[in-house]
Amino acid sequence: GAAGGAAQTTVLAVLDQTRTGMGGRLLRQRLLRPSMDAVEIEERLGAVGELLEQTIARAELREQLGGILDIERLLAKVTLGTAGPRELLALGRSIEKIPALRRLIATRQSTRLRAIHDGLDELADVAKLVLEAIADEPPLNVADGGTIRAGFHAELDELRDLKQNGQRYIAQIETRERQRTGIGSLKVRFNNVFGYYIEITRANQHLAPADYERKQTLANAERFTTPELKEYEHKVLDAEEKILSLEKDLFTEVRRRAGAEAQRIRATASAVAELDVTAALAQVAAENRYHRPKFSDSGEMRILAGRHPVIERLTGEEAGRFIPNDLYLNNGSNLIAIITGPNMGGKSTYLRQAALIAILAQMGSYVPAEEAELPLIDRIFTRIGASDNLARGRSTFMVEMTETAAILNTATARSFIVLDEIGRGTATYDGLALAWAVVEHIHTRTRAKTLFATHYHELTELAEQLEGVGNLRVTVKEAGDHIIFLRKVEPGKADRSYGIEVARLAGLPLAVIERSREVLKLHERTEHAVS
Ligand code: ADP
Ligand code: MG
Repeated sequence: GAAGGAAQTTVLAVLDQTRTGMGGRLLRQRLLRPSMDAVEIEERLGAVGELLEQTIARAELREQLGGILDIERLLAKVTLGTAGPRELLALGRSIEKIPALRRLIATRQSTRLRAIHDGLDELADVAKLVLEAIADEPPLNVADGGTIRAGFHAELDELRDLKQNGQRYIAQIETRERQRTGIGSLKVRFNNVFGYYIEITRANQHLAPADYERKQTLANAERFTTPELKEYEHKVLDAEEKILSLEKDLFTEVRRRAGAEAQRIRATASAVAELDVTAALAQVAAENRYHRPKFSDSGEMRILAGRHPVIERLTGEEAGRFIPNDLYLNNGSNLIAIITGPNMGGKSTYLRQAALIAILAQMGSYVPAEEAELPLIDRIFTRIGASDNLARGRSTFMVEMTETAAILNTATARSFIVLDEIGRGTATYDGLALAWAVVEHIHTRTRAKTLFATHYHELTELAEQLEGVGNLRVTVKEAGDHIIFLRKVEPGKADRSYGIEVARLAGLPLAVIERSREVLKLHERTEHAVS
């Protein structure tokens, strides 16, 4: 599918308004593998559009989705038999919310939302099974006891009664023995090693009755037991053991039965994921004023007032708002655009926004543009910036050429190629020659729509030589000896690179700026003298 390079991670942050783990994963998958199926894309867009319009329904849906945990992940643990009581309960509680979620889209009209509605199995049986069996606040592990809800199993309830009665009886022993021995500080306690015992302080030891059997001696106290205490201890511990083993069996059985419905649960989870992604994309569209893209077979790519989804949110009010730009490419007269202009002028941003708009559209999202009419693209190729790969022992230039080779070898006439400053990693004339030949190759062989940003002004001559190659420039305004970036893209070539002006903005010492102006003048004169 069409992949969009490193920008994805940040675009994902803009797009990810999902409320569930499943939805988050599905969104990521869609971004990485946009669709090539026009019907599928249109259906997704239709669903997003409906939720974009239905503001209240969208808010209710997202609220309800917020209460649904990661059913897929919980289910995986259930089927593996590793889910603990709290995880099984979490699954049950999430499933319990499905009917309300389903009701919220019962009257929706779009094909996809209808399909999602039909795909949501209410799973009332599974929710009932789990919620009737598992207590409201179960322990982390079944072995800790208290997993199974009272009233779920008669034998378990009886054993719990037995245990409780035993404990209550033992508690009464304390009161009774205090009276009998006259020792007010006598205690009946329990620990895991010695079980139940009567504890008397060392000072009161001589008051211990004859029927007390010594159990343990501490520094300040003596611990005893009695035949009666032993008997009740046995009753309590025996009940407890049975309770735990029964709870474990019951829990395992409930988990197994829930796991047996994995197929239905999984199908529902994937419907929830799709609903979540749809609501998220509608929310993003609403918050950022995105519009629905159109697809056509004309081969035309027409973007009106396109914006970069990430940069537009970073350019704060004081930095000046984001400047939208148009784009027009087609299969003939406007196949390839060479983009020139000063550093910081907005070339890379313009390239990336076009690629991102194409990707968003094909994943079924609205796009940051007033209008977008697009062809279905089979792949987007991006060769962007000087991503230094020295750590892997390859030079920037080698990496760049390897990637360019891959593009030229695999792109088709239905691909979209975005090349940003290729050839930069080598000597000027090599770089220019390679960039030139690459454009020619795309023009005559590949026939893919291409945006090519470059600092080689010589490349703009290609527009005069090749039908289908045109020039675009990012505009700047000169004001005295400095420049203002207008960031408006317009037809034509940049007449100067403004490198020195940009360096000045970057804060290079004034002496260096002035000296470089002199050197530039000197060079321009000698070049003119030569040619
Ligand atoms: P170039 O590739 O020409 O050097 P960039 O595309 O990297 O320029 O843009 C430089 C900076 O200018 C960006 O980081 C962004 O902050 C700002 N910028 C780019 N395009 C726009 C725009 N259309 N509107 C507002 N700011 C922009
Ligand atoms: Mg750039």
